[in-house]
Amino acid sequence: MKAWGPLTVKDLSASIVFPQIHLSDTASTSKKLLTKKPKYRMYVCGITPYDATHLGHAATYLTFDLLHRLLLATGSEVNYVQNITDIDEPLLERAVRDGVQWDELAADQIELFRQDMTALNVIPPTSYMGAIESIPLVTLAIDKLAHNKTTYEIENDMYFSVNHDGKFGSISHLSKSEMVELFSQRGGDPALAGKKDSLDCLIWMQQRPNEPGWPSAHGFGRPGWHIECTAIAMEFLKPDAHEETLIDIQGGGSDLIFPHHEMCSSQARAISGKELASHYVHAGMIGLDGEKMSKSKGNLVFVSSLLASGADPFAIRWALMRDHYRSERMWNSERLVQAEKEVARLRQVLKSKTVAPTQALEIDIVKFLSDDLDTPSVVNVINNWVEASLSGKSGGDHQKIRATIQNLLGFAS
Ligand code: ZN
Repeated sequence: MKAWGPLTVKDLSASIVFPQIHLSDTASTSKKLLTKKPKYRMYVCGITPYDATHLGHAATYLTFDLLHRLLLATGSEVNYVQNITDIDEPLLERAVRDGVQWDELAADQIELFRQDMTALNVIPPTSYMGAIESIPLVTLAIDKLAHNKTTYEIENDMYFSVNHDGKFGSISHLSKSEMVELFSQRGGDPALAGKKDSLDCLIWMQQRPNEPGWPSAHGFGRPGWHIECTAIAMEFLKPDAHEETLIDIQGGGSDLIFPHHEMCSSQARAISGKELASHYVHAGMIGLDGEKMSKSKGNLVFVSSLLASGADPFAIRWALMRDHYRSERMWNSERLVQAEKEVARLRQVLKSKTVAPTQALEIDIVKFLSDDLDTPSVVNVINNWVEASLSGKSGGDHQKIRATIQNLLGFAS
């Protein structure tokens, strides 16, 4: 699948001393060192293309963009893979509701997502993979699961059995009843007759009437969502046999912790015997005016609408950076107004050749970013520096700080 861009980040390691990076890991419930490496493997779950790109998506992809930028700026390479679930229930349901072809809806929304990511200056993934184009990989992954006796059939649909895996539950740390409830809310079928465990998940679904299907060794049908990400991550991130985990970072919104990332990591263990990721990183959900933002409430705020109404794309990034990525956040229009004011002042200062001293600011920016992407502190120190510059302080290196803010924070003039 074509991504977007190209957009690049410069290696700043010759001119900036970067501290070690610590990153929250949901599985260990701690902030853990991300060991310095020449190359990282990062997988971030992509959208199902029927309501791209609302602010919750933007907040998640911005989080991993900041991490991506930081890793590249330290001089490391990043193999970054993102999927797009271009066939799944929610897409088919939305197409029926709106009286459109599911594949046309998907194509339109994927294009809109590309435009939004380009406008927000998000570095594109190295590989951007659709579910449909990944069916041969999914088939192979299912074969490996079947070989390890972790699959079974219910009326020609294939299921992944979670009971073989003693580490199942190690990402989410939920009780069985909490898991069953979330599984039911998030596309699972815990009450289906014939299951060995209510949490076993669908990995290949035989074609249903009036739904699309594709040929595979497991029959004519389509893949389940979880195995799609497992298969894509394991193929395109090319795990190294010498590494302790298959990849470094698996990321997404906190609504993916269970069942999605729990299932992916369990399937990866069943296939490879290894842990999927060293860090499972999750961005908090975003609400609007005190309420949860969701498609069912009909209160989604779309990036494309904000841009169409003239919003400064960097101000959208700035407004989202004002809160820590892991926090459950609220959005309201005032936040964007405030961000636009601050960004306008920042732009004014970055155009000037006389700016307040920048050495301490640069040290603070990389220190805070390296500490679990502490963007609220980054925003504060930059605002203070802008204030000092506007009040006439001088002595800073305007070109260097401009490059730092562009490369690390995605600032575009
Ligand atoms: Zn995923």
